[in-house]
Amino acid sequence: MRTKLMILEDLQELDLKSDGSQARIQDALAEIESLDGRIQEVQSAVEAKKAEIAAMEAERLALEDNLAVENANIVRSEANLKGITTQKEYQAVNKEIASAKKLIIELEDQLLQKISRLEESNAELSSMEVDLQALAENLGVQKADIRARIESEETSAAAAAKVRQETVKAIPAGMLRQYEKLRQNRRGIAIVEARDGGCLGCNMHIPPQLYNNLFRGEELITCPHCQRMLVLKQEQQG
Ligand SMILES: [Zn+2]
Repeated sequence: MRTKLMILEDLQELDLKSDGSQARIQDALAEIESLDGRIQEVQSAVEAKKAEIAAMEAERLALEDNLAVENANIVRSEANLKGITTQKEYQAVNKEIASAKKLIIELEDQLLQKISRLEESNAELSSMEVDLQALAENLGVQKADIRARIESEETSAAAAAKVRQETVKAIPAGMLRQYEKLRQNRRGIAIVEARDGGCLGCNMHIPPQLYNNLFRGEELITCPHCQRMLVLKQEQQG
């Protein structure tokens, strides 16, 4: 029994290593996800800025169209002036021209403001794109490091899995099932050392009769408190 328990302890060591590997791989994947999230955030901001600029461009074009219309109105009104005979009509058309000119000044003012805001926004966009590029490169390097870490964890996990396959062969199926179940229920630790009359898994005292049975090493003994399998390593005491 003691030999089997020793093998089971080796198995547990392998399984704990593998648990550690899996946890580190999960952490690393979460890190990659969070880096991707940061990139996406900045990308969204760039897209929003582009949409804002497109809307401003459309407004600029509309202002230019309005300006063209008003300029055409003036040209037409000025042409009309030549055919006018009455003072009243002349004043009316001149009034139209004056109000069109006033409108043109307002539109030109709006257009200048729009162009200046567009320039600012385009400059902001350029700087955001430079930042995004730098961030993507920086995070790309970090991600490559993380992926290398994952790969090395996977390599050692695969090697450990092979050793486990061999180790498991020496353990009876029933004992293995009990071990797996205990590992699930006891945070990965199914087999623990018994020492100085106590269980090192839960640090509780083991009844002397049971402890004595451990020395005989004939049967599988579990801790009456935490149910873990007990293995004795120290030499039999006098
Ligand atoms: Zn215990």
